[in-house]
Amino acid sequence: MSTHLKAYVVHEDDEGNCAVVFATNGATARRDGANELNLTFEEVESCCREPALDQYAPGPVPMHATLAIGWWHECGNCHCRFDQDERHECDDEREDAFEPVQSETRSTYCSPACMMADWAKSRARQNIEHAAIEAALTRWPAATSAVGGECNKAWPSREREIYAQFTVPGLRFPVRWTLGEKVVHVSPCDAEAFQRLGGITP
Ligand SMILES: [Zn+2]
Repeated sequence: MSTHLKAYVVHEDDEGNCAVVFATNGATARRDGANELNLTFEEVESCCREPALDQYAPGPVPMHATLAIGWWHECGNCHCRFDQDERHECDDEREDAFEPVQSETRSTYCSPACMMADWAKSRARQNIEHAAIEAALTRWPAATSAVGGECNKAWPSREREIYAQFTVPGLRFPVRWTLGEKVVHVSPCDAEAFQRLGGITP
């Protein structure tokens, strides 16, 4: 079946985004491409055959193949745009040499250093989330469905804070707790029930 699929490049006008779709005919490709780009059929600017990408049917197409036909990508770490030859709209004084790479999860980067930095950031984020979940479960063993995260402190602070959000049996809405704080944020509907459960006492 996939041997009959052909590659089409579907373009969106406004932001220059495009997608590669594999289909047996142009109309199907246009419809599938519109779906992928979150457009209506009519909003698609163009839908053209790209025989150079046929060999990747039924997809996905690796980054190096789209770079080879002139596409741009954005680095998942430093957010500079790059094509096959160089970075654009980017600080020239960079120390990491330009060398486009793609991760196993298909994110694109302008250099191995950027890929490593992004990986380190996501590891740090995961560690923070786990720490928040553990802290919440230690303090409220009845908590379920705990998730952790990091967000900006209230303006004008530029610092970040770590929080856990979880549900407690008997409460209608999730509870949010910022690590290090003595109070938690509960929905007004749940305040009484939460106090009855002894939740607010540190
Ligand atoms: Zn980069």
